[in-house]
Parts: sequence; structure tokens; C-alpha cells
Amino acid sequence: MSPKSRAALEVWKFGGASLADAASVNRVVAMLRAHQGPLVVVVSALAGVTDLLLDGARRSVAGELEAGTRNAAAYLRMHRRLVENLVPRGAARRRLLLMVDATAREYRDLTRAVASLGDLPARASDLVVSRGERVSCAIVAAVLHAARRPAQAVDAMDIVATDGKHGGAAPELAESQRRARRLLLPLLRRGVTPVVPGFIGRGPDGSLSTLGRGGTDLTATLLARCLGSRHVVLWKDVPGILTADPRTVPDARLIPQLHHREAAEVAHYGAKVLHPRSLIPLAESRIVLDVRSFLHPERPGTEVSARRTLERYPVKALATISGQALVTVAGKGMLGVPGIAARTFAAVHAEGLSVSTIFQASSESSIGFTLNEVEAPRAVAALRRTFREELATGFIDDVTSRSGLAVVAVVGEGMAGTPGIAARVFNALAQGGVNVIAIAQGSSERNISFVVTAEQAGEAARRVHAAFQLSKIGGGRPPEVAHTDVVLLGFGKVGRALADQLAARNGTSSVRVVGLLDRSGYVFDPRGLSRRRLLRLAQGKDSGALVAELGGRRADAAEALTFVASHAVSRPVLVDVTAEETGDLLRSALDHGFDLVLANKKPLAGSTESHDRLLAAAAASGRRIRYEATVGAGLPIIDTYQKLVETGDRVLRIDGCVSGTLGFVLSAVGAGRAFSEAVVEAMGRGYTEPDPREDLSGQDAARKGLILARLMGYRGAPPAAENLVAPALRRVPLAQFLKRMSSMDADWKSRVERAAARGRVLRYVVTATAFAVRASLAEVDAQSPIGSLTGTRNLVSFTSRRYRNEPLVVTGPGAGVAVTAAGILNDIQYLAAT
Ligand code: ADP
Ligand code: ASP
Ligand code: MG
Repeated sequence: MSPKSRAALEVWKFGGASLADAASVNRVVAMLRAHQGPLVVVVSALAGVTDLLLDGARRSVAGELEAGTRNAAAYLRMHRRLVENLVPRGAARRRLLLMVDATAREYRDLTRAVASLGDLPARASDLVVSRGERVSCAIVAAVLHAARRPAQAVDAMDIVATDGKHGGAAPELAESQRRARRLLLPLLRRGVTPVVPGFIGRGPDGSLSTLGRGGTDLTATLLARCLGSRHVVLWKDVPGILTADPRTVPDARLIPQLHHREAAEVAHYGAKVLHPRSLIPLAESRIVLDVRSFLHPERPGTEVSARRTLERYPVKALATISGQALVTVAGKGMLGVPGIAARTFAAVHAEGLSVSTIFQASSESSIGFTLNEVEAPRAVAALRRTFREELATGFIDDVTSRSGLAVVAVVGEGMAGTPGIAARVFNALAQGGVNVIAIAQGSSERNISFVVTAEQAGEAARRVHAAFQLSKIGGGRPPEVAHTDVVLLGFGKVGRALADQLAARNGTSSVRVVGLLDRSGYVFDPRGLSRRRLLRLAQGKDSGALVAELGGRRADAAEALTFVASHAVSRPVLVDVTAEETGDLLRSALDHGFDLVLANKKPLAGSTESHDRLLAAAAASGRRIRYEATVGAGLPIIDTYQKLVETGDRVLRIDGCVSGTLGFVLSAVGAGRAFSEAVVEAMGRGYTEPDPREDLSGQDAARKGLILARLMGYRGAPPAAENLVAPALRRVPLAQFLKRMSSMDADWKSRVERAAARGRVLRYVVTATAFAVRASLAEVDAQSPIGSLTGTRNLVSFTSRRYRNEPLVVTGPGAGVAVTAAGILNDIQYLAAT
């Protein structure tokens, strides 16, 4: 390379994920410092900030007035902490802190204003979110400057001229070019690195307009075009452009090179990795765009350019747009009538709506298109107005819309020259039982798109991905070392034991803990939390502190999860070790691409509907749920059930003792201890919930029974459990209960003696079949396997076709922190290995 070309101007864009915290900003600055030639740097808002700002504004409009204040506080905290960590004391730091304070205040005031307006017009929304990019730009410029690479923040409002369409403006090339050259070239000549906020520009009326979500990509390509740069790098937390969204297609692979036009189609059809219009400035140019991993800057990523490679792959990538509606104009009378299509699209265009794909039935008796489902009613109304006469005369039968759909696009330059592509696509879909609602072949023959229901979109993508062997592209290597990244939801005793077991194997195992969340906040490091850090956190938790007080970020769990998911963690697994109603959160984790491991019973043991919704969400997103530790801690109970079924057996009934706590108490009472004493001892040994009545009420055992019954297909209501607490003591405060518990001793004593006289003992037994679940106290033969259980041991027996006369029995310790953690670890290992 000649010295001249080495010094060619490049535009580097850093996405939100690469600006998550002080460590990542430091990494960005180190990369910039190490680069020799001239650079223009374009930055997004910090990870999660755009969502945070929009969320506060939307909630305020919806009447949740404190949301704006709360999110303003979160914004303030995040940015203040970053500035304090990164910028040395002095004037620059003071200026930045003032800016952070002022923008947070403005934001809070804006949310109040839109709340009183009762509406969030696109113009206001643009104003609300714009501060995310502006403040991150100021911070990066200051840190870079302090690190002795001369840098200056330049406002994008002074550079990017747009058509002014709020919420999704298009840049005006000629005007932007004039401004970019005037403002940026003099800085570059002086050796100063301009840092520009992405995503925003100025409309013809002078107001701020954003370029639509993900718009920083477009700012970067636009600036490259304007400044005559030949090279744009988008630094992301994915290794590059993958053959499909890794969150829906787990074996998606890195595409080493794509043509501009292919990348443009992938982006247009909703692959979140690139803004839909980000390739427009590069059309017909020789600019090379690289999408690279800022976590692995030594790797080449994906090159998007005018070259053609990978010709063995007619299909290179898939993309999915969800939340779509299909609007159809239909009528026999349309056949052969010119102008219907033109009038249809003119009407839609006049409404300012944008269509994602056009579908025409081969009979020509209908024409259809997809668009964002929120906009479908407006499109239908506009078309009904346009075709008023044709509808009245019956020339057109009807204008209809169907929502809840997704468009899947299959993209590749080589498709044009390869026969039979469409047939291969549709065979693969048919084999997967995917029902295709409409089909469009792009006129370029560079893509085939089809419409399916949102529920089938994931399966459709996986089927087509497999049919074209896309997991072999680029040599078929997984894009990263295939780590399994574990995020712990809850950091109680079990969570800590698990973290410790995982961290102990750090370095020797592909499983690592990258994040943990409790009700106060979260900590996250995409490279894995070190054992030392986990240990410190565990010690802090032991002494009663919350994650947010131990150096974590303050956030609610949903917010935290969105943040973590905004990083492309590898094969992520969320482990629920809480005892809360986490159903909504778990479904959102599935949407974000997490597999789930549960020790928490509640999400599976609520209403049939909530149980079904969780499993359906997993099926729709192609994710897996494991929950061995919900029943029998580390014992292989669900595993045994599944092995029986997989080998062709049918389980008719499962019963046994599944509560280690009740087992401990009842066997102690049977051996002559007072009931109250046995409960106190169980508490002391950590076998009970903080309030032992949760166990004594049978609730916990009943939940386990319900989970087992549902495995067998049980659809009925959760069972009523037999409560072992005397009615008078059920509702009193815990302290009262403990004081008065001995009032139950005499009764228990006589029950035990009555049973003993008949050679029997008391056990708390759960019975589950496909039709019923029971959780109750039973008298069993003292010599029977259940009768001879001691301590916290569980025993579960499976009666099946094969094991009808002599049930298959699994028995062992069924409670305790270490064994529960081991059960969870087993599930995680299973997910990591398959
Ligand atoms: P940035 O931080 O630069 O804005 P994005 O978060 O917008 O980056 O883009 C990366 C995300 O895009 C990843 O989290 C990934 O899940 C998603 N994605 C969807 N489709 C693809 C694909 N085909 N290749 C790579 N990433 C994809
Ligand atoms: N921060 C904006 C968004 O989240 C723009 C971007 O990241 O490209 O959509
Ligand atoms: Mg983006």
C-alpha cells in the first residue's frame, strides 16, 4: 500500500453497543488512537438510551406521569457516571456534566409537555430522542481529545440536510455534501478528528428530524459519500452481517462479502444490522463498507462492495420484517383493467405510507402489499375512498387487511442465474408445515419474499436457511468461539452457588456468566464477569446489599434485559432463580433470543393460559426451555420423564414426595420430635422459604405436581393443596405464627401416634396424571419406599406402560442450595452442548 492510500480518509461509526460503559468507550478510544490516517467518527446514543428516552415519553403520554422523571433520572445517572469515569477533572468535565444535567432536565420537561398534550407527534419524538446522540458525541469527542487525538464534536444539524419527514427523514445529498465539506474538511486538514452524532439532521423548515431507528448507519454512509471517502466501517457488537438474524436462526454464519445490492435488500427487508436505507448513498459507488466487531477488531467482518464472490451460494441471506399487515384489493372485474395497480399505490403514497413488498396474484384478480400493521387501517380507508365507485358497482369486491404477519425475504445475486430457487424455498417451507400466505418475486430476481404468520416466521427462516445450507457459508465456522453466555435473573443463595460453580470452571469451559440482574439493577460484561468480580458481588449480597449498590447499574429487569440483549451475546441463556411471577419478562427474553433455564416454578405453575403462552413463545422463536430444577432440585426427574417418552413409553402417572422441606418435618415428627421444633430446625438449616408457611401450606409441592402433570398433558386448573397450618395461624404475622406454632404440636403428636398404631407414617404426597393433580397428606406403610424416606430426600415414581407393575423410581436429596445449582448447571450444559 502506498503511503498516500494508507492515509485515505475513512468514516467509522460506533453503534450503541460499543458505547455501553466506560470500558467499551475506552476500547473505542484506544482503537481510534491506534489508527494512523484521517477519520470522521459517527456515534450512536449509548446502548439502550434511545429506547429509554422513547419509553419515558410514550408512557408519559399514556398517563404514567412519573415515567418521564424516572427515565430522566436514569439518563442522568448513566451519562454522569460515564463522564466521571472517563473525563479528567477540569473544564471539559464540568462542561459535559452541565450538558448532561441540562439535557436530562429538558427531557423531563418535554415528557411533561407531551403528557399534557396527550400525544407524541413525530416532530416531538424526534426532539426527545435526539439528545441521546448529541450527548454521546460530546462525551466521545472529549475523551478522545483528552487521550491526545485532537477531536471536535460537530453538530449533525449543521451538516445533514433532510427532506424533513419526522421520524424517518431522507437525507438530501447535494446540500449535505456542501455543508459536510465546508465544516469538516478544514478540521481534517488541521489533523482534527470530527465526531458527529448519527441519526439526526435538519429539515427544510429548520426543525430537527431523525433518519429513523438505526439511522446512525445512514449518517455514516452519507458522510463517506459526501466527503469522497472510499471506506466506511460500521463497528458493531456482531461479527458482521450474518446469513440470518442470529436470534431466530441459531446457526447463522458470518458472510465474508456481499454486493452492495444484496446488502441493500437485506437491509430493506428488515435485518436490524443495517438501517434500511443505509446503502443508498453507496449505490453505484466504489465505496467499500465493512461491518466489523468492535469486540474483535482484528477480524475482518463483512465487506460490502462491488465485488462478486461466493458464487456457489445463489442465496446468501435471509431477512424478516415482522409486525406486518397484508392489504388486498380484490375483484374479478379487475382482470385486465389497466391502472388499478397504479391507482392503488398512488393512494397509499398520498397517505404518506410506505409499502414493504408488493404481491400480485397470478390471476391478476387481486393485488396486495404489506406494510406496518399499525398503518393498515389508514391504507384500507384510503383505498376504499379511491375505489368508491368500483366498490359500488362491484367491479372491485373488497379492500381487506390481515395483520399479525411477517415478510421473509430470501436474498442473493446468484438467484437470477440459478433455476429452481423458488421451488426449493417452497419445498422447504412445505416440509416444515409452514403455510405461505403470499409470494412475491422481486423484479430484480435478487430476492423472493413471502408472507407468513408471525408465529411461523422463525420456523420459516430456519427451514430456508437449512435448505440452502447457509450454515456452511464462509467455511461454516461459527461466527465467534461458540460461548454460551449466561445471564442470571436473581442472585439469591442458589444464584450465588451457581455463579460460583460456573466461575470455578472459567477458562476451561465454554459457559460463562456475562450478566446478573436483581430487582435493583444489573451488572454486565460481554466478555464474561471474572470470578473475582462475582465473588465480590456474592459477598456484597450476603451482607444484604443489592446489585445496584455494588457497582451495578440501576434499572428494572425489563430495562436490564433490553440492554443485555442489545449486545449480541453468544448463545445466550437466561437463568431464572427468582421466586417471582416472571412470565412477561421470560417471554421478552425469548423474543430477544435467549434460551431459558428455570429453577423458578411460578412461570410454569400459574394459569394454563400463562403456561401455554410461555411455551408458545419459545416455539415461535425457536428457543428452548429447561426446568429440571423446578422439581426435585438436582434429581433427574423431568429428564427421566422425557427419556421414557422419547423411547416410546407412555407415562400414566407420576407420584411421590417432592417437597424436601415437608419430608424433613414429617420424618422428624414421625421420629417423635415436636412439630414446632422440627419446623424451627428446618428453618435453621435453610430448607424452608423465609416464611415456612409457604412450604407447610403445600403450595410449593402442589406447584411441582402441576408442572409434572402438565408434562403429561394436564390442562385443568392448578390444584388446591392440603394446608398443614392450622386455620387460625394462616394469616397472622410471621412472628406471631412462630410464637404460636407449638399450639399445633399436640394435634400432630396424636395424628402420628394413631398412624403408628397401624404401622403407618405421615407423608406429603403429590399425584399427577394427565387428568388430575393432588397434593395432600397421606398415611403410608412405614416399610414402603416413601414411608422409609428420611430428611429432605425426595422420591418420585413413574408408572408407565413399561413400568406398570413395578414403577420406575428416582430418589435422592431433593432440596438444598448446592444440589439445586447442580440441577441448573446440568440444564445449562445441555443447552451449551446441543
Ligand atoms: P448498532 O449498535 O451498530 O446500531 P445494531 O444493534 O443495530 O448495531 O445491529 C446488530 C443487531 O442486528 C444484532 O443484535 C443482531 O441480533 C441483529 N441482526 C439481525 N439480522 C442480522 C444479520 N443478518 N446479521 C447480523 N446481525 C443481525
Ligand atoms: N440511537 C438510534 C437508535 O437506536 C440510532 C442508531 O443507533 O443508529 O435507533
Ligand atoms: Mg443499529
